[in-house]
Amino acid sequence: MNASALPRLVSATANPHKMAEIAAILDGLVELVPRPFDVPEAVEDAGTLEGNARLKAASICAATGLPAVSDDTGLFVDALGGEPGVDTAYYAGPQATYAENRAKLLCRLDGMADRRARFRTVVMVVYPDGRELSVEGVCEGMIATGERGERGFGYDPVFMPLEGGGRTFSEMTEEEKNVVSHRGRAFTALVAALRHPAG
Ligand code: IMP
Repeated sequence: MNASALPRLVSATANPHKMAEIAAILDGLVELVPRPFDVPEAVEDAGTLEGNARLKAASICAATGLPAVSDDTGLFVDALGGEPGVDTAYYAGPQATYAENRAKLLCRLDGMADRRARFRTVVMVVYPDGRELSVEGVCEGMIATGERGERGFGYDPVFMPLEGGGRTFSEMTEEEKNVVSHRGRAFTALVAALRHPAG
């Protein structure tokens, strides 16, 4: 298929790790246009993954006049009543680093036997005419008792997907992660939805 026949979407993400993962998943299936540098980031204050994904895609769509795609992810830990959830990026505070967020999570779970958790990603496309397309992906797993592995970002060194054979995301290759990850599943669902629009 030549590139002009592919659906063209402007990415709302400013995160280079996520952009690389998404580009790899959509390679050859969607023409992904990088987020324009001069568009300010939307304030993610909707209170839900769906709402935040909509805010981000809608702001890029309004700024570019093109269909825009965004994703919003949360880590939901059973023993913590679903924390950090929608606040996953800011768990240890508004300016928290990935390492500080992981340290807080490990501390909160210290000594707890129930380590079950899941990543959930909502992907939203907003079109200039106001239409929306939304899909989601879930990855079930466990929080490790310490950090393992070098790859990835965020909570990767402490999250063991059920399909990972006991490895954390950080101990898997990008390709292995994308097959089972929340974001991989959500963007795979997006490709299917773009090919076979409902209704
Ligand atoms: P976002 O909505 O994709 O920006 O994700 C919110 C936060 O979830 C990020 O700041 C990361 O801390 C975490 N996160 C999202 N996806 C992943 C992942 O694939 N691995 C580890 N952490 C992630």
